Amino acid sequence: MQIFWLKRNLRLRDSEPFFLSMKASRSHGRVLPLYIHEPGLIAQPDVSRQHQMFISETLAELSEELEALGGQLLQAIGETVSVLERIHRCSPITRIWTHRETTQNAQYQRDSAARAWCRENAVEMMEVEQNGVARGNQAPCPFAEYFSRSIQMSLKDPTGADLSQRFAPLPFATCNINDIPLAMGADKPGRQRGGRRAAQNILSQFFNVRNLSRYPARISSPNTAWDGCSRLSTYLAYGIVSDREIFQAVDGVISVGHSNLTAPEFGRLQDRARFFLERLNWRRQYLQVFESHPHVETRCMLPQFDGVREAEFDEGLFQAWSTGLTGIPFIDAAIRCLRECGWINMRLRATLVSFATMNLWLPTRRVAQFLATEFLDYEPGVHHVIHQIVSGTSDFQALMVYDPMKQALDHDPQGQFIRRWVPELCELNDGEIHDVSRTAGCHSQKADDVGLGPYPAPVVDCKLTAKSAKSRIHALKNGFPDPGPVGTETHSRQMGLL
Ligand SMILES: Cc1cc2nc3c(=O)[nH]c(=O)nc-3n(C[C@H](O)[C@H](O)[C@H](O)COP(=O)(O)OP(=O)(O)OC[C@H]3O[C@@H](n4cnc5c(N)ncnc54)[C@H](O)[C@@H]3O)c2cc1C
Repeated sequence: MQIFWLKRNLRLRDSEPFFLSMKASRSHGRVLPLYIHEPGLIAQPDVSRQHQMFISETLAELSEELEALGGQLLQAIGETVSVLERIHRCSPITRIWTHRETTQNAQYQRDSAARAWCRENAVEMMEVEQNGVARGNQAPCPFAEYFSRSIQMSLKDPTGADLSQRFAPLPFATCNINDIPLAMGADKPGRQRGGRRAAQNILSQFFNVRNLSRYPARISSPNTAWDGCSRLSTYLAYGIVSDREIFQAVDGVISVGHSNLTAPEFGRLQDRARFFLERLNWRRQYLQVFESHPHVETRCMLPQFDGVREAEFDEGLFQAWSTGLTGIPFIDAAIRCLRECGWINMRLRATLVSFATMNLWLPTRRVAQFLATEFLDYEPGVHHVIHQIVSGTSDFQALMVYDPMKQALDHDPQGQFIRRWVPELCELNDGEIHDVSRTAGCHSQKADDVGLGPYPAPVVDCKLTAKSAKSRIHALKNGFPDPGPVGTETHSRQMGLL
């Protein structure tokens, strides 16, 4: 019997391991689709209840999809090796098919243990590359080439087929959902729903000439990013969609534009499409960096930063930041929105992390770990690498400290976003809402109703702390204090951080 092992590759469409296992069913045995709820991974500090709920919604749909094809999904609780042992005793395994993952240490160790078990039991482990990430001494393929190869590939879709003869019967009953250990935290009321249907809706609704044309203008403000961005990151992070499907959707919009637009309009559309694809290129680059530097999950990319912020860790400041009570309205609005919805746009993420690690001097790892549980789209490779860049602990020379006041004035000038998430300030006018000398001590009936006290005064002076952080980082990187503004904005802009 072959296993089709579902991890962060929760899809059947454009799933090479699924198709290859089906194809090999005559020579290597029928196929058992398997998802393992691993208590050790569920207890990791970067896993939270919202992730678990999202996965469980996705598995419920996946299970229906498999049934429609004539198969059944086995969900089991236990550590991977013991689950594989149990299956192997009931029905000997010949091959395990899955996707190769670029992921955090706990998963990496789990994969290594599974590989070792396979070697001991003469089971073949077939791991298929995804996201174009090279491993070991493979050379990464340039993005342009990867993109053109991806759009030429036909995407296999099993929908409508009868594959019942190729699926294996369940070796034992699927687990009771109520027995799965609960991850920490609470679910989020405003988060995205799991499942292929939700992802499919985005694929069919976001990718049109109108949305792609206005994408660059809408992604920076929290008031327009909500539907100006694709919101595909969570579905990509769990492999519910593949990057190839997205590339093909973009290519489809280009083809429509080519047939319907004037030459200048079409030129503009191409620019906007390139702008969107650039982000998927960064994603791939970050994953590749993480593949080669997995230690950035727990240590700084530049070792001289290890322990520096930790030595001055201030629990009070961490609490104020993580609960949205710093007294800086844009920061508090961002964290409160994130805590309820599990998503904020990239600019807000960078502003939050910059404020935490520069102005509050909080340790990068502590900040990254907290946000990993808050971001529904937590993708270890992207997440940890960007944290190192924003907090200045990577080898990128350019250093940006985001001024939260300027960010607020540029991207929420009328304060709609702040008023929505910081009800203490909802009665202030547009000018007052950005003035911290007016916001300190404010309260409103709306805030009283939800048990919020008067709005706090800023926990730090943003300008002074930014200057000090820049100077300290410069000294740690170069061995002497900051002579003034460092680096250019260009590199940060290229990496999508402005
Ligand atoms: C501190 C910090 C932490 C982040 N952590 C994550 C994370 O855990 N998971 C994650 O997917 N993204 C992360 N990002 C990148 C980015 O913020 C999100 O990918 C984006 O906001 C997701 O929304 P979207 O799908 O609507 O993106 P869109 O704007 O629609 O972009 C399309 C896709 O491109 C990719 N993308 C977009 N911006 C970036 C970027 N700057 N870097 C890399 N890839 C990008 C994503 O896969 C995204 O789905 C982080 C950014 C910062 C500053």
